[in-house]
Amino acid sequence: MTGNDIRARFLEYFEKNGHTVVESSSLVPQNDPTLLFTNAGMVQFKTVFMGEDKRDYRRAVTSQCCMRAGGKHNDLENVGYTARHHTFFEMLGNFSFGDYFKEQAIHYAWQFLTEELQLSKEKMWVSVFQDDDEAFALWEKVDGLLPGRIIRMDEKDNFWAMGDTGPCGPCSEIHIDQGVEAGCGREDCALGCDCDRFLELWNLVFMQFNRTEEGNLEPLPKPSIDTGMGLERIAAVLQGKLNNYDSDLFMPVISRLEQLSGRSYGAGGSDDTAMRVIADHARATSFLVADGVLPSNEGRGYVLRRVMRRAIRFGRSLGLSAPFFYQACRAVVETMVGAYPRLADTAELLEKVVNNEEARFSETLEHGLAILDEEIQRQHQQAVPRIDGEFIFKLYDTHGFPFDIVRDVCLERAIAFDESGFQAAMERQRRQSRASRKGEGLQLKDAGIKTLIDSGRKTEFVGYHTLHASAAAL
Ligand code: ATP
Ligand code: MG
Ligand code: MG
Ligand code: MG
Repeated sequence: MTGNDIRARFLEYFEKNGHTVVESSSLVPQNDPTLLFTNAGMVQFKTVFMGEDKRDYRRAVTSQCCMRAGGKHNDLENVGYTARHHTFFEMLGNFSFGDYFKEQAIHYAWQFLTEELQLSKEKMWVSVFQDDDEAFALWEKVDGLLPGRIIRMDEKDNFWAMGDTGPCGPCSEIHIDQGVEAGCGREDCALGCDCDRFLELWNLVFMQFNRTEEGNLEPLPKPSIDTGMGLERIAAVLQGKLNNYDSDLFMPVISRLEQLSGRSYGAGGSDDTAMRVIADHARATSFLVADGVLPSNEGRGYVLRRVMRRAIRFGRSLGLSAPFFYQACRAVVETMVGAYPRLADTAELLEKVVNNEEARFSETLEHGLAILDEEIQRQHQQAVPRIDGEFIFKLYDTHGFPFDIVRDVCLERAIAFDESGFQAAMERQRRQSRASRKGEGLQLKDAGIKTLIDSGRKTEFVGYHTLHASAAAL
C-alpha cells in the first residue's frame, strides 16, 4: 500500500464513520502568535475544543501537514539519526468535538489498524495514563490485544495539555513491536525506550478536563477526542521497512539524490544519513515555501534557512556542488503534488528561493568549513578537545553557519561542542539588535511577498486523493 493509498484509506474510513473531511491547514498557524508552526492535527481546531468557535460538524478527519523544528516540539536534531522522526510530516487524525469519547476512539483506532490495514494484533502494545483505569478497562475488552500489553505511563508521556491552563487530559498510545533487530539491543529495552523498536504509531488524546489557574482539574461538560498518527511511520510499517525514509514517501527523493551524486543508498553509513536529512529538509522547504515562509534571519524564516543550509552542507558531503538542492525539492513536488495540488502553484517560486539561498550560502560554506576543520584539528591536539561556544557564534555571525551544521560536523568527527556557550552568545546578540531596531517597520517586506504568493494560489480543496494537477505539467 502506498503512502497515498494509506492517506486515502484513513480519510475514507473515518468519513464512512460520520467524520467530515477537512483540509490540512497551513504550516503557519492562523491567529496564533504563540506557536511557531502547526505541529499537530488539533492546532486548526484549538478554538473549537475551547468552545470559542462552532463548526457545522462534530466529527472531523484530516491529514495535517506538521512541522516540528524550532519551537516547543523540536525534532530537527533527530532527523538523520532516528528511523522515525522528520521535521515535516503528515499527521492523520480523527476528532470528536463533544461527540464520541474514549470507547469509540479506541474502537476506531483498533479497527482501522487491525482490520482495515491488517496489522498483526500480536505485535501491538498500548500505553495508558497511570490513573486512567477507564481506558485500561476499555483496552482489556478489545479483541485480540494480548494480555500484559497495556502499560501504565506517567504524566510526561501520557498526559496532554494545551497549555498551563485550559483543556487537557490523559492519552493512550498504540505502539508496534518491530522486533529486536529494529532496536537498541539493550537487555532492558521495552516500551518507552528511546530506540525505534517499540514504534509509537498513534496517540489518542482524551480531552476531559479544564485546568484552572489554581491548577485544579475540572471535568469538561463535553469531553472531546483528538488523535494523531504519523503517515510516514504507518507507511513504513505496511511496506515492511524499519525506517520511515525507506518508504515510498521518501524513496523518489532519495533516488534522485543517488542519481545526482552517483552514490548508493542503503549501506547504512554516512551517505544514508546525508540522503535522509536532505530528503526530509527538501520536504520541509517545499511545504514551508508553499505556505508563504521565506528564508530570513528570524522566526519561521530562520528555521527554514537553518533547514536549507543544513541540507546544503550534507549535499557537499555527498560530493554535490551547487546548485543541487532545487532538484531534491523538485522531486518532492513531483511526489506530493497529487495529494497537495497547491505545491504546483509555488513550484517556480520554490526553485528561485532555493537557488538563491544555495548561491548565497555557497560563497561562505566552503570557507567556514575550512575554518571549522582547522579548529577541530587544533582541538584534537588538546587534552580535552572541545569546540567553544564563542567560536561557534563567530562562524554563525560571519559565515552564516547555523548551529545545527556545527553539531553535525562535530558528531561526524567525534568532538565535543559547547551548545550553551553558543546559546548565550546568541542571546546577547538578540538583546543588542532588539535594542537597536525598536520602531522599524520590519513586517513590510514579508507581507508584500505573502500577498504575491496568495495571489498565485488559486487551487481549491477538492479532497486529498483527487489528482487534479499532474506532475508532468510542472
Ligand atoms: P515520539 O515519542 O516518537 O517522538 P511523540 O510522542 O512526540 O512521538 P505525538 O506528539 O504523540 O508524538 O504525535 C502523534 C503522532 O505523530 C506520533 O504517535 C507519531 O506517529 C507522529 N509523529 C510525532 N512526531 C513525529 C515526527 N517528528 N516525525 C514523524 N512522525 C511524528
Ligand atoms: Mg516526539
Ligand atoms: Mg512519544
Ligand atoms: Mg506521543
